[in-house]
Amino acid sequence: MNQAKAVNAIKGAVRKAFTWYSEEYKEAYKRATVRVLIKDKDGNPTGRFRDFVECAQCKNHFYKKDTQIDHIEPVGKAFDWPLNETFLVWFHKLWCSVDNLQALCKDCHSAKCKLERKQGKYK
Ligand SMILES: [Zn+2]
Repeated sequence: MNQAKAVNAIKGAVRKAFTWYSEEYKEAYKRATVRVLIKDKDGNPTGRFRDFVECAQCKNHFYKKDTQIDHIEPVGKAFDWPLNETFLVWFHKLWCSVDNLQALCKDCHSAKCKLERKQGKYK
């Protein structure tokens, strides 16, 4: 395994761990969740509720699976190999405070990522 591959493998693993274990990630979803009263086909309230995630950009409501947690200030370029302080800088940017996190729908997220890549801010 070469160095670039090793960096990519570690990056992927830490990103996954962030989505699995981070309290900040869970809190970001909690903050974006809206409880919506379900109406029947005639528009009458059923008395039942369903949770949706509100996209911070377009403000539409989505099923959670159709949303992603975005770093408002991008995480930035990858770290160097062997792991040194550039890894820690990257790690702390990824594992940031909930205030730098927002839920976005997939369309808004990919548009933001594309723009950031164009501006040279690697996601
Ligand atoms: Zn959106």
